[in-house]
Amino acid sequence: MTDSRLSPDTCATPADENRALSAAEARLRLLAEVSPITGHEFVPVRDALGRILAADIIAPHDVPAHDNSAMDGYAIRFDSLAAASETRLNVVGTAFAGNAFSGLVGKGQAVRIMTGAVLPAGADTVIVQEATRVEGNDVIVPPGQKCGQNTRRAGEDLARGAVALPAGKKVGPAELGLIASLGVVEVDVKRGLRVAFFSTGDELASLGNPLAPGQIYDSNRYTLHGLLTRLGADILDLGVVPDRPEALEATLAEAARMADAIITTGGVSVGEADFIKDVLDKLGEVRFWKLNIKPGRPMAFGKVGNAWLFGLPGNPVAVMVSYTQFALDALLRLSGLDPIPERPLLTVVSGNAIKKQPGRREYLRGEVTLVDGRWQVRTTGNQGSGVLRSMSEANCFVVLPEECAGVQAGEMVQVQMFEGLI
Ligand code: AMP
Ligand code: MG
Repeated sequence: MTDSRLSPDTCATPADENRALSAAEARLRLLAEVSPITGHEFVPVRDALGRILAADIIAPHDVPAHDNSAMDGYAIRFDSLAAASETRLNVVGTAFAGNAFSGLVGKGQAVRIMTGAVLPAGADTVIVQEATRVEGNDVIVPPGQKCGQNTRRAGEDLARGAVALPAGKKVGPAELGLIASLGVVEVDVKRGLRVAFFSTGDELASLGNPLAPGQIYDSNRYTLHGLLTRLGADILDLGVVPDRPEALEATLAEAARMADAIITTGGVSVGEADFIKDVLDKLGEVRFWKLNIKPGRPMAFGKVGNAWLFGLPGNPVAVMVSYTQFALDALLRLSGLDPIPERPLLTVVSGNAIKKQPGRREYLRGEVTLVDGRWQVRTTGNQGSGVLRSMSEANCFVVLPEECAGVQAGEMVQVQMFEGLI
């Protein structure tokens, strides 16, 4: 981590402290603020799955390494063929994948060739088997062929020395295969991002303990466990911290010593922020944001020691909204992912009416399904910011822009699918 101070832009000045930030503004500020961790390590190819490349992977040789056939058929010289009539060619051998034909293909000759076999010297074109007729030792080729057809040229996928995969790329199944095709055995990847998290609240009971009157089970740590594990972070669960300044201070200090990023839930709403503010002022530099969204209005962001702090709201669905819309992209940038992709918003028809006042951007839980051949979204029941069940029934957020004043059934709305997001 570089500078321990926030840029002036991230810090709301007293004059605009009460101004609500738009979702777009908040995301941009977060992305502008954090920079990738520098640590990296070499891992065997398979273990690179889900990791982020720390350096460009350069092709050490051409891919494919040699000119070869894209089809089963006959390798020939194009100048052997008559332009307007059939051509009879003498078959002089066979080229298999991994077992090349060592001779030369002369004018008037053909070599039977299999997909992936090296194109024999002299040949420049492959005629697919289905187009030909065999008569004894000859093959009859119809007119209408094109020079170079059905061949794959050396280096057409990747030329030797080219950047096969750039630093900052996340390794998925296609990248594993591509890396293997280059003969690369070990991959230079970013080290895992260390993320510590804890819940705050005197009302929270941990699993395994009975609920005292007024208590609820701490669910946020389980949700965050899921989100951060999916992210591929090295996670550190610091449990439940009661609403006491000393306890919060001790846990934050511990988290900051061990992690690149800290995620807290609860305690950032207006009524609760004050004692937390005092503690954070003492340990670092953290701003309390009011976001122009629903749910997930309050959020804290800044630094505690060398760790970035994301103070998410307490309500379980608000946690998922502020994590997916804000913290996630900042964590991805910290991890080294580059570029951070924009998340697609898809337009589908709304299957039901949705009430909304203009003003804030709203994230509703919805389920996109195929109805009579058309993709449609319906909101999934109770949209209270504490209601996880409707989150569990959903497969997307319905994202209603600030100015939207409600939706009629049958109108088009934008959705952000969960797949790939959580
Ligand atoms: P807070 O942001 O701390 O005011 O919390 C807002 C609401 O979320 C309250 O109803 C809390 O009880 C609830 N809440 C806070 N933290 C958790 C948690 N870890 N698990 C479940 N609910 C929580
Ligand atoms: Mg609380």
